[in-house]
Amino acid sequence: MTTTSNRTESSLVDGFGRTIRYLRVSVTDRCDLRCRYCMAEHMTFLPRAQIATLDELAIITERFIARGVNKVRLSGGEPLVRRDVIDLVQRLGRHVGNGLDELTMTTNGTRLTEYADLLAGAGMRRINVSMDTRDADKFRFITRHGDVAQVLDGIAAARAAGLRVKINMVALKDFNEGEIGDMLAWCIDEGHDLTLIETMPLGEVEEDRTDRFMPLTAVKEMIEARFTLERDMKGTGGPARYWRVNGTSTRLGLISPLTANFCDGCNRVRLTTEGKLYTCLGHDDQRDLRHALREGGTAALDAAIESALMTKPRRHDFRIERDSAPAVARHMSVTGG
Ligand code: SAM
Ligand code: SF4
Repeated sequence: MTTTSNRTESSLVDGFGRTIRYLRVSVTDRCDLRCRYCMAEHMTFLPRAQIATLDELAIITERFIARGVNKVRLSGGEPLVRRDVIDLVQRLGRHVGNGLDELTMTTNGTRLTEYADLLAGAGMRRINVSMDTRDADKFRFITRHGDVAQVLDGIAAARAAGLRVKINMVALKDFNEGEIGDMLAWCIDEGHDLTLIETMPLGEVEEDRTDRFMPLTAVKEMIEARFTLERDMKGTGGPARYWRVNGTSTRLGLISPLTANFCDGCNRVRLTTEGKLYTCLGHDDQRDLRHALREGGTAALDAAIESALMTKPRRHDFRIERDSAPAVARHMSVTGG
């Protein structure tokens, strides 16, 4: 039954011996915001006919769970703009504690007042909410029209529903660098975690991302002038490195794809809303799992997943260079951030 020391019959192992435990699912490429580093102002979204049904996304995700994936994150685009997303959450939620350790979501928070109770009721315990600034004008600028009060209400609703909240904040030069310390202080007061993210070269946007790139090495120094951080080695096998803010319950995560490559321990793959599997955020290789499922059922799906894993590259090649094309043409919203 066992073919290598770290591989059982059912587990998913890539060509470099990394066991895949984490699936991100982009349930839609659409969004109600247009964050400047993420999307172009006038985005072309996938035609509805190309989008996998929620049943197809659920079947594929359940196959990953059966093959050893123990963490699933729903993302997008904005997952909560997909009309029937809650059906998927409820269906996958039945696997929590029964193969799945965690079902979670990354959301921009605009619809959380409506959905927080449903998410918690379906078995979610934690969610990530993206908020790059708490300043109303700056929030409207960076999202091109968003209302930060709506997001703050959403975060409060999530907490009231019993969800632990992690704030995602993309560190942007000449935009929010001066607010990072205050955002961490606010997270400490509110009992949230905070993850800071370096802007990544994914998809064409109107801006040159180089202009706003902030290396998190510099940000960490800035934070340490005000807070005492202790390294928290409890990794997720993901890209973030974690620190505990001394004397608080807040964890600080740093996602530094540009300044600190994290690929050696990568345990994740990504399923798009079309049902395509990308094994790396920074590469174009993909397998059409929906097509495999439609043509050959579970056996063909398994074969497609296994062959996709053999193409998972050792690492991404992100670089931020002035006037250079993005590392990949896909926006983060397609692959699922
Ligand atoms: N709409 C949801 C949200 O904003 O949380 C989920 C999808 S969004 C693509 C997921 C995360 O990716 C967000 O925290 C967002 O800030 C981040 N993101 C989007 N584009 C990015 C980029 N080019 N570089 C770094 N982070 C990015
Ligand atoms: Fe939408 Fe999230 Fe991208 Fe902002 S970061 S445009 S909220 S998908």
